[in-house]
Amino acid sequence: KMSKKEQEEVARRDSAVEKGDTQPIRNFSRQEYLKKRELRKLEELKDYLEDESYLFGDEKLTEAEIQDFRYKKAIYELIKKRTQEEDNVGEYRMPDAYDQDGSVDQEKRFAVSVQRYRDTGSTEKMNPFAEQEAWEDHQIGNATLKFGAKNKQVSDNYEFVFEDQIDFIKASVLAGDNYEDAMPAKPSQESTGKSAFDMLREERKNLPIYSYREQLLNAVKDHQVLIIVGETGSGKTTQIPQYLHEAGYTKHGKVGCTQPQRVAAMSVSARVAQEMGVKLGHEVGYSIRFEDCTSEKTILKYMTDGMLLRELLGEPDLGSYSVIIVDEAHERTLHTDILFGLVKDIARARPDMKLLISSATMDAEKFSDFFDQAPIFSFPGRRYPVDICFTTAPEADYMDAAIATVLTIHVKEPLGDVLVFLPGQEEIEAVEENLKNKIRGLGTKIRELIICPIYANLPSELQAKIFEPTPEGARKVVLATNIAETSLTIDGIKYVVDPGFSKMKSYNPRTGMESLLVTPISKASATQRAGRAGRTSAGKCYRLYTAYNYYHDLEDNTIPEIQRTNLASVVLSLKSLGIHNLLNFDFMDPPPSEALIKSLELLFALGALNQLGELTKAGRRMAEFPLDPMLSKMIVVSDKYKCSDEIISIAAMLSIGPSIFYRPKDKQVHAYNAMMNFHVGNVGDHIALLKIYNSWKETNYSTQWCYENYIQVRSMKRARDIRDQLEGLLERVEIEVSSNSNELDSIRKSIVAGFFPHTAKLQKNGSYRTVKHPQTVHIHPASGLSQVLPRWVVYHQLVLTSKEYMRQVTELKPEWLIEIAPHYYQLKD
Ligand code: ADP
Ligand code: MG
Repeated sequence: KMSKKEQEEVARRDSAVEKGDTQPIRNFSRQEYLKKRELRKLEELKDYLEDESYLFGDEKLTEAEIQDFRYKKAIYELIKKRTQEEDNVGEYRMPDAYDQDGSVDQEKRFAVSVQRYRDTGSTEKMNPFAEQEAWEDHQIGNATLKFGAKNKQVSDNYEFVFEDQIDFIKASVLAGDNYEDAMPAKPSQESTGKSAFDMLREERKNLPIYSYREQLLNAVKDHQVLIIVGETGSGKTTQIPQYLHEAGYTKHGKVGCTQPQRVAAMSVSARVAQEMGVKLGHEVGYSIRFEDCTSEKTILKYMTDGMLLRELLGEPDLGSYSVIIVDEAHERTLHTDILFGLVKDIARARPDMKLLISSATMDAEKFSDFFDQAPIFSFPGRRYPVDICFTTAPEADYMDAAIATVLTIHVKEPLGDVLVFLPGQEEIEAVEENLKNKIRGLGTKIRELIICPIYANLPSELQAKIFEPTPEGARKVVLATNIAETSLTIDGIKYVVDPGFSKMKSYNPRTGMESLLVTPISKASATQRAGRAGRTSAGKCYRLYTAYNYYHDLEDNTIPEIQRTNLASVVLSLKSLGIHNLLNFDFMDPPPSEALIKSLELLFALGALNQLGELTKAGRRMAEFPLDPMLSKMIVVSDKYKCSDEIISIAAMLSIGPSIFYRPKDKQVHAYNAMMNFHVGNVGDHIALLKIYNSWKETNYSTQWCYENYIQVRSMKRARDIRDQLEGLLERVEIEVSSNSNELDSIRKSIVAGFFPHTAKLQKNGSYRTVKHPQTVHIHPASGLSQVLPRWVVYHQLVLTSKEYMRQVTELKPEWLIEIAPHYYQLKD
């Protein structure tokens, strides 16, 4: 007996599910690509492009269609030309090189070298879509993480920079705003004789948001809910909480400001503490998972969106806050999306609380619609124009291309810092290593190049390095994940290198399988990335993909995380908040209902929910842990197997991510060999992780021991920190710390009790097949079991690179599945 409205809702959700199968799950499998390629009617398009009459036919074309036609044609002509005039330098005109009456703007003609195409096969050359196909191959084969194994032979001399050079064409200019009103050059402290604190105060006044301070405060006074929109770097995150504090909003409660990225929460709060002249952790603090840097005194609190969600479990009305700022709302992370629904509700119940939703310049209307037509306060930013350059052909390996581009910029372009976007920590470390080697090879022939990595797990003392001013005559290159796209603004960046990828979760609600994958970014992301080059002066953005790829292959916007991820963890949180009917939850963009149902099923299988969908005792305990439900289950169940001591060590080691060992520095020592030292009896990676942790502990947490074993000491320290907190949480849920280190089977059974949905069985060809929803997977080459290939395994995570890999694998006995999860697995005869 559903009302009409509910029926509509269900229909809407159903269609979202439909889309959920195809659209949000971007699965770059080879078959799919081959099929797509087949479907493309090449010849038809070719005829159409050869025939100009299309433009002058009866049909009235829109401006966009004409542009599109011209663009495609220009590409087509370019490729035709390349094949005809092999020995000449070709000429390529971007579509916007034509003005109204069809003549060509000389400024916009760019010579491209045809040299690169000489040695490709001739059939390829005749195909106007060779470029497209090469891109696809690139996606399939080379969006993989080929570190370690492959290293192009590069001669250690100056020449290679020019041999390896990549051709770019300038395609357009990202217009700046207001740049006549140029930003005053930053005077140095010595030249003005002012104190550092005074200098900071002046810098604050130079931020674009400063001119709107009063208007903004008035708007906050007049409206309970306000959407704030401004260009990245204009001062929203660092200034608004301070303005609110200055205006007295912290007298009766804290100002909380959420950040999707933990590094941003740490770094921004450090900056604000500095600007206010207070010690970080006192009046200004931050809170991220496993790290709380706040105190009784804290009135401005930066935190990850996930942490606010956890705080809600203890304080459902957020009573200790007078203002909540949901910042970087455009990022649309899973936790931000869930918060939207929750804080909207709280704001209704608490008229005294102010709610600010702050975002870079996208999606403002949508936020306003969701928050009952809340007013939008938008202010202009200050950005200088940025030249956008594309490669003339797809690059086979984006990491090599990024390195070559950085070196070319360094050798050829005027001084100014470089920002390179890479998908994740591993890629950053690989590029860092490689760049360092090459720079070393070049010796003193070039200027100093300072390499600064930045990613979520980087320890905070190293994070600060990206903000340190570049010494005179040197150049800084920041290797960053998505975090530098909008959350962090680094002044002085003049060049952006954008390979066009980010690491994203992808989830198939049908099978419940989630994997991490390096995925092409959206056009909106690409624009944001380019914008980072124009913060303090005009800049340049080098996109390591072609204009064709940009227009044809990139989605307009990034799909919100909620529609492409496993929801089990937030469903568990919502359940413990007492929100039972999840289908009625106020989602800005509802997740596919299939994904919701899948997560309920998983929580049921894990014993966190009973048949009525209510939280069980185990479920309540699991919800206390800020971990994925499978990990929490593994911990909660370790009580039964009397090995909680070992299990929390394993959970902590799993939480620090894959970078435990150093990357091989020389060829003799391999991280793999270093790791193999810890594999006892080939039972699996989890036990090896435990062994690493315990060995370190036995040496009294020795740094020396880490060096000797090629282990990253900072990862271990983090693991220790996390482990301490998990131990505290054990106490909270009344689980005794018990050790059973000789009983490896008990430890493995606890792992299986949490991860039984992640099991796979060996096939004849050496690959594996997942048990519940059959799919072919492989043991990650970095696993200690990759040469052992046990018949049955349980895995921690799937990572899709060139293949679907299981990462962190442990052997199991199949009878355990029947013993531990009889409701999930049945014997087949
Ligand atoms: P928005 O939130 O609007 O993107 P922010 O408030 O993050 O802008 O940044 C405003 C300014 O503060 C930028 O110029 C940025 O470079 C500077 N800034 C932010 N964090 C730091 C930091 N940790 N160290 C130095 N400068 C910083
Ligand atoms: Mg910000």
